[in-house]
Amino acid sequence: MGDDFQNLLGQVRALPRAELLTLDAAVRGLLSAPPPPVPTEQPSDMPGPGPTLSGEPPPEGIAAIEATFARAPECPHCQSKRIGRWGSANRLRRYRCKDCEISFNCLTGTALAQLHKRELWAGHSQALVDGISLRKVAERLDVDLTTAFRWRHRFLKAPKAVKALKVQGTVEADETFFRRSFKGARKLQRLPHKRGGDDAKPGLSDDQVPVLIVRDRTAAAATTDAILPDRSAESIGACLEPVLDRSAILVTDAEMAFSTVANKLEIAHVSLIASKNERSWEGYHIQHVNAYCNELKGWMFRFRGVATRYLDSYLGWHRMNDRDGGTQTARTVLAAAWG
Ligand SMILES: [Zn+2]
Repeated sequence: MGDDFQNLLGQVRALPRAELLTLDAAVRGLLSAPPPPVPTEQPSDMPGPGPTLSGEPPPEGIAAIEATFARAPECPHCQSKRIGRWGSANRLRRYRCKDCEISFNCLTGTALAQLHKRELWAGHSQALVDGISLRKVAERLDVDLTTAFRWRHRFLKAPKAVKALKVQGTVEADETFFRRSFKGARKLQRLPHKRGGDDAKPGLSDDQVPVLIVRDRTAAAATTDAILPDRSAESIGACLEPVLDRSAILVTDAEMAFSTVANKLEIAHVSLIASKNERSWEGYHIQHVNAYCNELKGWMFRFRGVATRYLDSYLGWHRMNDRDGGTQTARTVLAAAWG
C-alpha cells in the first residue's frame, strides 16, 4: 500500500461519526454498482450474422432481425453507415457508430427497444397472427392484461404507419363507420350505449367515426385508409390528394363530397347512384372496397368495440394482414414490428 493510501486512511480515522457514515454509504454504493461495460471484442469493420458473443443464441425471430440488421447496419442516431462491432449485451450484438460514437443494438430506436421478456415475443407475434383478444393473449402467454396491451400497441406501432403511398388505375373509395368508443379512458366522457340499441344512421351521428378506405385494382391491391375528422370534402380530399395518381379513375358512391374532391383534383370520377340501385356502370364498381370494408368490420367484431384512440392501430393491423395474405407468420409479424 502506498503512502497516499496510508494518508487517506489516517484522514478517514479522523472523520466525525456522521461523515464516516456518509462515506460508508458512498463506498457501499460504489461496490454494489455493476462494473462499467467493457467491450468484449475489438470493433470490427466486418459485422456479419452469427450467434451473439455471449454464446447464447437470441430468442426465435430476433435472430432473423439481427441477421437482417447485420447485413447493412446503420446508426439509429445519425444514420451513418460507418459502423463497428462493439461486443454484446443482453444477448444482442452491439455496434458503435464511428461518427457519433454512440453504441446501439439492432433494436435501438425501434418500437421493440426496451420491451422486456424477449423470450415471449415470438408467442406474442403468433397471437397477432391468430388475431385473438387481449384477454386470450394474457391467458396464453401468462402475462397480465396491461403487458398484453402494451405489447400489442408496441408491435403495431410500425405497421400502423405502413400505408400505400400511391393508388393508381381504377381506384375504389368508400367510407365505413365505427362506433365512437372511450373504452379504457380514465374518465367516462359520455354515457355508455344501451346494449343492443339501434345505432343512429351510419355516419350521420357523432357516435360514429368515419373511416375512408381507398383501394386500387392493381395486382398489389394498394390500400390506404384514414380516420376522418368529419365527412367533408376537405377531410376526404386531404386523405386522397397525396396518394391518388392523377391519371387514376376514382370510383365511389354518389356522395357529393367525392365529386367535389374529384373536381378539385381534376381526377376522372365514376359516381354510382345507389338510389337507382346502380351497382356497376360500364364495368366500374366499388365491390372490392366494399368487400374490404365488410371483412374489416367482421374481423374487428372479435375485439368487442375498439377504443377510438387505438382505432389506427387496428386499421394498420388489418392492412398488414391484408398485405401478408396467407404468408403471414410469427416471424413476419415480428419483422414488421421491428419496422
Ligand atoms: Zn451515429
